[in-house]
Amino acid sequence: MTGTPGATTPTDIELDSSGRRMRFVWADGRRSDYDWEYLRWRCPCATCSGEGEFAGELQTRKELRPDETEMVDLELVGRYAVKPTWRNGHDTGIFTFRNLRALAEQDDLLRDASSA
Ligand SMILES: [Zn+2]
Repeated sequence: MTGTPGATTPTDIELDSSGRRMRFVWADGRRSDYDWEYLRWRCPCATCSGEGEFAGELQTRKELRPDETEMVDLELVGRYAVKPTWRNGHDTGIFTFRNLRALAEQDDLLRDASSA
């Protein structure tokens, strides 16, 4: 599926504050909605997820504080990624479109764009 043309290109990205979700519509006609807390647990930055021999901070956490899981801003990074800013100021995690699409496929988050 990741080889499908358009599968890693979003045509629409929306930060849904009331639903606490980040919504993606992909160029291949699928859509995926990501729960904020789901994304926060998967923050790919070195501090959260670790790097090399260093364990990430999230590997020792059982739960996250509310200010850590509230997305207050979402920025495009070039043409390949988005960077959320979380309420507690954390903004070093860059989620590439490729990774987001892979997460959606792995965790069954893909829907047809026409369905609600
Ligand atoms: Zn992080």
